[in-house]
Amino acid sequence: MRILVSNDDGYFSPGIDALARALSAFAEVTVVAPQRDRSGASNSLTLDRPLSVRQAANGYRYVDGTPTDCVHVAITGLLPQRPDLVVSGINDGANMGDDTIYSGTVAAAMEGFLLGVPAIAFSLVQRGWPHLDSAAASAADLVRRFAPHLARQPMLLNINLPARPAAELAGIEVTRLGRRHMAEPVVPAVNPRGETVYWIGPAGSARDAGPGTDFHAVEHGLISVTPLDVDLTGGQWMQPVHDWLAR
Ligand code: MN
Repeated sequence: MRILVSNDDGYFSPGIDALARALSAFAEVTVVAPQRDRSGASNSLTLDRPLSVRQAANGYRYVDGTPTDCVHVAITGLLPQRPDLVVSGINDGANMGDDTIYSGTVAAAMEGFLLGVPAIAFSLVQRGWPHLDSAAASAADLVRRFAPHLARQPMLLNINLPARPAAELAGIEVTRLGRRHMAEPVVPAVNPRGETVYWIGPAGSARDAGPGTDFHAVEHGLISVTPLDVDLTGGQWMQPVHDWLAR
């Protein structure tokens, strides 16, 4: 099995290294990841300049672009063969609910999926890499279990891993995305030139976080597995909009 590994934290991230090593036990792994931290890059493609691909001493390839650029370049030209699977992560922090809209980790996986390759995004819900080794072991175990199914039916999975030792994991739950409250306001600051600048504030806290959601699962020590779809059509709003036009 050939696996393309990417992320949004950068090719040097402990999370991508732990993931690539764990997957190498049973798969042929190629790493193509951003040159720097592109967290929050979502699905952006770089269209205003060409992209450079370089290789680090450990063999990982890095691109001066976004997570989506990395997977796009890898699958549509760089790699000699299509991968069987795209695996993204392990991200430094959760990607639950609305996070999935902004996440470069999810976007890297989504780009594989949009190009017809099944894909899985992994995120460690607590920042700073607590219990990264058990997270990587869980990720590799899930990839091995899901790969045969994904080979038949390309799918996009978003997986959040609780920061716990393997022995303290409560299990695995198939979930839907929860929702967060609106984002916190921007944080103004004054730069050395006396100009006011604005830091994007933190994501909102969980709002829709009841049983069945990703938030609820990880809160209870369960690995959260959410199948994602890419169609953003608001089906419930089609009839109301039709009705506006009929008046
Ligand atoms: Mn990230």
